Amino acid sequence: MQQVTFKIPFVIAGPCAVESEDQLLTTARAVAKAGAQALRGGAYKPRTDPRSFQGLGEKGLKLLALARKETGLPVVTEVLDTRDVPLIAEYADIIQIGSRSSQNYPLLKEAARTQKPILLKRGMAMTVEEWLLSAEYLLQEGNDRIFLCERGIRTFESATRHTLDLAVVPLLKRKTNLKIIVDPSHGTGDAALVPAMAKAALAAGADGLMIEVHPHPAKALSDGKQSLDIPAFTKLMADIR
Ligand code: PEP
Ligand code: MN
Repeated sequence: MQQVTFKIPFVIAGPCAVESEDQLLTTARAVAKAGAQALRGGAYKPRTDPRSFQGLGEKGLKLLALARKETGLPVVTEVLDTRDVPLIAEYADIIQIGSRSSQNYPLLKEAARTQKPILLKRGMAMTVEEWLLSAEYLLQEGNDRIFLCERGIRTFESATRHTLDLAVVPLLKRKTNLKIIVDPSHGTGDAALVPAMAKAALAAGADGLMIEVHPHPAKALSDGKQSLDIPAFTKLMADIR
């Protein structure tokens, strides 16, 4: 396991899904070189369509461990099912609770009990109050290493995948001491919009970013449209600095 050291901005980057050793290691090396502080990749994916790629499961976790060993980056990965918490906790340095799970209270409690840092995404129809109450479930287990992750909410607007609610960044700063991460990849659904919204998030006071990066976005098994390729991510990191 990797001790997670937190430096602002805390940039978490990697592919939506772990697809292969080559895909993950190529991405991991590149994001480490560009200055990311954590590698994220899904091994268990919450897909709207049950016929789409569901993730590599434990094989994906093993690849994340390999990438951590090679790059030294701590790894972030999502847990979907309470039954998988012990397995995920063996591999993850930070456990992600996704939008679709952020009001699954038994899962929140079980994940918090591992005492690993938790990346708690905002549900796509969740109010700030509900989000903070979900965080309270984690706090009640004695776990205060929480990253709240704004990833866009569902509104009437369909021109972007979701509506990235950046006003919550200063709002949450007033209400809580928890760290705030912004995910402009899911928030926009469009790689071309990601760099501007990433910078806007930092300007609003976010403590970090979660960015989807893929070596060949057009070939990605999930979320290719919103994934930056390696040159675009490298440029974003240079612009941020
Ligand atoms: C993801 O991080 O790839 C993901 C599925 O995100 P969300 O839970 O925000 O939809
Ligand atoms: Mn994704």
